[in-house]
Amino acid sequence: MQVLTSTSSAGFGDALAAMREGVITRESASTLIRAREGDELDSLMAAAAKLRNRVNGRRVTYSKKVFIPLTNLCRDYCGYCIFRKDPGQAGARTMTPDEVLGVAEAGARLGCKEALFSLGDRPEAIFPEMRETLARLGHRTTLSYLAEMCERVLNETGLLPHANPGLMGRKDLETLRQFNPSMGLMLESTSDRLTLPGMPHDNAPDKPPSLRLKTIEEAGRLKIPFTTGILIGIGETLDERVDSLFAIRELHERYGHIQEVIIQNFRAKPEIPMRDHPEPSQMDHARTIAVARLVLGEMNVQAPPNLSDDDYPFLLRAGINDWGGISPLTPDFINPEKPWPHIERLAERTAVEGFELIERLSIYPEFVFREQFLDKSLASRVRTLAAETGYAKTS
Ligand code: SF4
Repeated sequence: MQVLTSTSSAGFGDALAAMREGVITRESASTLIRAREGDELDSLMAAAAKLRNRVNGRRVTYSKKVFIPLTNLCRDYCGYCIFRKDPGQAGARTMTPDEVLGVAEAGARLGCKEALFSLGDRPEAIFPEMRETLARLGHRTTLSYLAEMCERVLNETGLLPHANPGLMGRKDLETLRQFNPSMGLMLESTSDRLTLPGMPHDNAPDKPPSLRLKTIEEAGRLKIPFTTGILIGIGETLDERVDSLFAIRELHERYGHIQEVIIQNFRAKPEIPMRDHPEPSQMDHARTIAVARLVLGEMNVQAPPNLSDDDYPFLLRAGINDWGGISPLTPDFINPEKPWPHIERLAERTAVEGFELIERLSIYPEFVFREQFLDKSLASRVRTLAAETGYAKTS
């Protein structure tokens, strides 16, 4: 890919004009993502919003969920992570089955339909304490314990599990597929540079991009509706962002399984190694979302509202069509200092922008009625919760 370090108005205009003709290349996306504040950014966002409106009309979706942090022990040490803990560190925790089911049941009573399992990656590989915990729970691996919890949540509460446990091999995916109508793994970035000394993934064995692409590809082979995304502002270049978006697009073109792409912005926190690293500006986030929309076309593009504080409606203007999971019960354990907005308030602010907020399931509507994308045993469970449109039944 040609690396561009600056752009000109003429170059930007040509790239935008080509995009309007339906042509977007890595090179033109690299030009567009350098949009300058003012006319360039406005026209880029308008083009992205127009494409979103053509595909999604005035509908913007969210999923009503509970967040289940099954374990926050993790063998990786990502520079931006506040979630992970070592055994013995204050707040280190692996949830018991009773705790998991208690949260899921409370969520079900509040009308939640998704149980998002987010957890550290393979802690048993480096922590004997985790191996002992798992042995007490009757398991050898965290992923095996996760599978049992997904099965029990599904059977005992009716919530649909959506597992987001880090890297998974084919066998793990096959097992989890039986209880998860959809799953996820953030690609974060295709940049190998981020694993070099001093970079955010220099002590994160599960973050080499090739490994993450492999899991996403394996999910595609197994026809698992899959959530992925990029994390922006962690030291990647604009061109590397574009590369990451094209890598996701190429996987979807091959397997048709990417149900949503999250464009998540790095937020600094006093407790993390990257506490002094600059956060991406709102303008930078907006132009990345707009380019993501133009590269990804009809795919679902999401940005979490709570990571943009009170300014989040700009995300709609940049081209997203989904707010992600919103919980009326549990905090965002990955960003605990950033509460989700109340669903009523989210609906009001979405309406001010001219959109209707619609509840979806953890699995997107376009996958709900496609036999090959759902394990046979799950199809009826999912369809009980879905309206004819594939969105969530709300009454
Ligand atoms: S971001 Fe995920 S993989 Fe990285 S340290 Fe945190 S929990 Fe572990």
